[in-house]
Amino acid sequence: MSSCNTPGSTEARVIVLSGPSGSGKSTVVSRLLERSPVKLCKAVSATTRPPRVNEVNGRDYYFLSPAEFEARRAAGEFLECAEVFGAGYWYGTLKSELRRSHDICAWAFLEIDVQGALKVMEAYPDAVSIFLLTSSKEDYEQRLRARGTESDELIRRRLETAKKELQYVDRYKHRVVNDNLDQAVEQISQILATREAELNAG
Ligand code: ADP
Ligand code: 5GP
Repeated sequence: MSSCNTPGSTEARVIVLSGPSGSGKSTVVSRLLERSPVKLCKAVSATTRPPRVNEVNGRDYYFLSPAEFEARRAAGEFLECAEVFGAGYWYGTLKSELRRSHDICAWAFLEIDVQGALKVMEAYPDAVSIFLLTSSKEDYEQRLRARGTESDELIRRRLETAKKELQYVDRYKHRVVNDNLDQAVEQISQILATREAELNAG
């Protein structure tokens, strides 16, 4: 039971953002967290992937060993979890992260892959779902190479996954093209402001 003084169900205040690797999800999320028109709480996912330089446990991800991840999965702690990119790394949304967001009367912001997003949309049909993409397919590779955090082999896997993920764009309520970062952030801000107004109007 939520104690938030906001109309509409807190369950409706869930945002799912997906998009191919390199589409700019992390960049867009950090900008939104600074200047969103609604209160947002980023759900911190758990993963078995090793941390990148500058990534902090508990802020960027909960970095778990495969055994720890499996134990928590078996205990039913995940809303959804999936092996992403076929590289043997698991990612998952902990149910406790949604509770954490709603306990502070914020929208839960999930940045997750398509497999996970489809499961969340089933569990939360009122969720705002957004697919982030670029207008040119070449941009993904260019951006991943410029980011410089993955090997050639991992970039190849990510681009293959991107092709499959792009087939699911119509399952999302909104599609946002991130060719220009400011415009993409503004468009998502407007989607959230409009939805918040609808919920407040009952
Ligand atoms: P994702 O989380 O979807 O894999 P990132 O947010 O890490 O993507 O972005 C991938 C790279 O592209 C980063 O180096 C980021 O700075 C850059 N980037 C993000 N948005 C844009 C944009 N609109 N134009 C150009 N580069 C961008
Ligand atoms: P990265 O390794 O670049 O941080 O993330 C890789 C991919 O994992 C991204 O497509 C991201 O959306 C996805 N991802 C991150 N967290 C989760 C999660 O909790 N569940 C699922 N299903 N995918 C996730």
